[in-house]
Amino acid sequence: MLLKGKTAIITGASRGIGRQVAISMAEAGANVVINYRSDSKSAEDVKELLESKGHNVLLFQGSVDDMEAMTQMANATVEKFGGIDILVNNAGILLPKFLMMTKPDEWEQTLNINLTGVYNCIKSSLRPMIEKRCGRIVNISSVASLSGIPGQAAYATTKAGINGLTRVLSKELAGFGITVNALAPGFIETDMTAIFNEKKTKEYYDMIPLKKFGKPEDIANMAVFLSSDQGQYITGQIIAIDGGLSV
Ligand code: NAP
Repeated sequence: MLLKGKTAIITGASRGIGRQVAISMAEAGANVVINYRSDSKSAEDVKELLESKGHNVLLFQGSVDDMEAMTQMANATVEKFGGIDILVNNAGILLPKFLMMTKPDEWEQTLNINLTGVYNCIKSSLRPMIEKRCGRIVNISSVASLSGIPGQAAYATTKAGINGLTRVLSKELAGFGITVNALAPGFIETDMTAIFNEKKTKEYYDMIPLKKFGKPEDIANMAVFLSSDQGQYITGQIIAIDGGLSV
């Protein structure tokens, strides 16, 4: 079991990629904290699924753009499991709009959730990792940060910000034994990509060398690997998992 005895916080774990990261990390032996914002039913389902298999779970409702709530989540995690070893910053929203159509409040909300949310969660979870001189941070970026995809201005800006933060933090935290990496998924089969109609999906398939969308497991497998001892010498990397899309 690659993550036996570790404790992992996964933001946005009620659905999609975050849900699968929580499942895969629990199966690898970790205690998992399932964070979500609004979809209580889906979050409860993940909790029940994992608990039925004997895994340790803490459910925490709170928006990542709320620093106070994220601090409470970190405190509740330490109280229940005794520490924080892994933080997966997965929560995010897609604003599928050209810049010309993007309203100031939409721009602000996307930055608050996708980028300031990552800052909030890292700030509030760092102390236990620093004290232990060991930790893993995995940020979920996007292929949108690597190549300009029209219609994703605010979204791509936040994901490019995550890449910058990942590189800086990998150096700031290396002395504490903490690795920081980002995964840049291409198109993955979740609710986020279910908004594309058949024509758009076909257009995207044609752009991807492997000619298909990825699955949440493709991202979760790498998150588990990076969080384990096997990933101990990898830090500061932006790893594309995209069927070759960004090449
Ligand atoms: P998804 O299916 O839409 O799920 C999003 C998850 O994030 C849900 O659990 C949602 O919880 C949670 N969430 C949203 N806003 C939140 C907030 N303010 N605070 C806490 N949780 C919040 O998305 P996904 O496709 O799995 O994407 C997950 C991550 O991967 C995102 O960062 C996304 O940008 C990135 N990504 C996805 C793709 C893709 O093709 N799917 C590609 C590249 C990158 P509630 O429902 O409870 O609000």
